[in-house]
Amino acid sequence: MQTTRPDSANATDGEILARDRSLAFRAAVAQGLVPREQPVVGLLDVTGIIRSAAALRAAFATPGVEVTHTFAVKAAALVPVLRLLRDAGIGCEVASPGELALARAAQVPAALIVLDSPAKTPDELSRALALGVAVNADNAQELDRLDAAVAARPTASPLGVRVNPQIGGGSIGAMSTATATSKFGVPLRDPGAERWLLDAYAARPWLTRLHCHVGSQGCPLELMAAGVRAVHDLAERVNAAAGRRQVDTLDIGGGLPVDFGSDEDSPAFADYADLLRAHVPGLFDGRYGIVTEFGRSLLAKNGSLLARVEYAKSAGGRRIAVTHAGAQVATRTVFAPDAWPLRVVALDGTGHPKDGDPVEQDVAGPCCFAGDVVAHARPLPPLDRGDLVALLDTGAYYFSTHFSYNALPRPGVHGYTVDPDGAVRFATVRAPQTPRELTAECGGGWADSLSALTGG
Ligand SMILES: *Cc1c(COP(=O)(O)O)cnc(C)c1O
Repeated sequence: MQTTRPDSANATDGEILARDRSLAFRAAVAQGLVPREQPVVGLLDVTGIIRSAAALRAAFATPGVEVTHTFAVKAAALVPVLRLLRDAGIGCEVASPGELALARAAQVPAALIVLDSPAKTPDELSRALALGVAVNADNAQELDRLDAAVAARPTASPLGVRVNPQIGGGSIGAMSTATATSKFGVPLRDPGAERWLLDAYAARPWLTRLHCHVGSQGCPLELMAAGVRAVHDLAERVNAAAGRRQVDTLDIGGGLPVDFGSDEDSPAFADYADLLRAHVPGLFDGRYGIVTEFGRSLLAKNGSLLARVEYAKSAGGRRIAVTHAGAQVATRTVFAPDAWPLRVVALDGTGHPKDGDPVEQDVAGPCCFAGDVVAHARPLPPLDRGDLVALLDTGAYYFSTHFSYNALPRPGVHGYTVDPDGAVRFATVRAPQTPRELTAECGGGWADSLSALTGG
């Protein structure tokens, strides 16, 4: 295949990402990854993920400071992705027994795993402590459980408490973790809370970490930095009271927002790390280890959804492309279109960009409800049956935030690399869900159970 790759010597990361993505769209069609009966597929840029991981590590690298990066598994709950990140030196932040199992399946070592679920069960806690993965307690009642567990059996798990610095929300309410009434962590500014925390640490010499996660999408970096600063200042007070460095590690969470409007990484990890160096210099002076838990910012720009246009029609003067990418794969975009707009690219049936003067059209999905539209009145070259659409920047959350409405199957996900000559190689990350798997998920193994109950 003729190469149209930019000379990587002077291309930006965003240009390389965009070029490789276009090549991958064509190759995915040519290599049969979007067959008629499996009309939507997820694609991940493997080199892009490695580049993002390297950028994260470089941004925080500081002589004399131990930095542990973990990836928030909920952003891409795909074992091969977790393994790739592990190979790039990045562990896992998990928030459920299922996510812990995925991290283990990817052979991520316990020392690179952090457990943060807001509703940990007793079994979940004991398993984490037995494995030695780090645990951040969400609240006073969970700390009671930790008291009992630590008294019963020694553990290698580093233990901390999640605090909510209550510094305010960003532009998306559902993504704002540091409002006054957020459900996460110990609310630092509530009356008596700081006193309670200082006492809790004084009584438990094994509490060695403090955790916060201020984000996410829609939060200004300054707000995130203010949250980290509040946690750092609290650690200083705990340590002053203890007369020793009891808190030795600060877990600053994730939450870096992503620009869904362009191919460039903005803000970059380096922008955030530089801001933290300016606002919280004590974080980097060697007295604390740092843990991070980025999700969206590591994966979003490295993934796309590719879907067939089944029909093109018009209603009330509006053109509508009926595609196979709707709420089942772009759940947040469909239900909260203003908070989660996506770039849509119009492609012909071979995966090449369509030309033609842009016309406002709705890009609709396959689900049976009227709101199943991923882009409203979007100016695009006119889409027709047999064309394809690509939804860009869907590498984070879109492959793990499914909606099983209409018993639509979870699509396959493939990773790709592009050789210098432009040849694209794919590897399966997740096979498309089969009708048999789908039926099993929907109670297929118990077809007679209700009839039997009624004597039928
Ligand atoms: C979701 C989550 C993250 C990752 O957030 P992103 O916005 O994807 O970076 C990190 N830590 C915790 C505790 C989370 O809940």
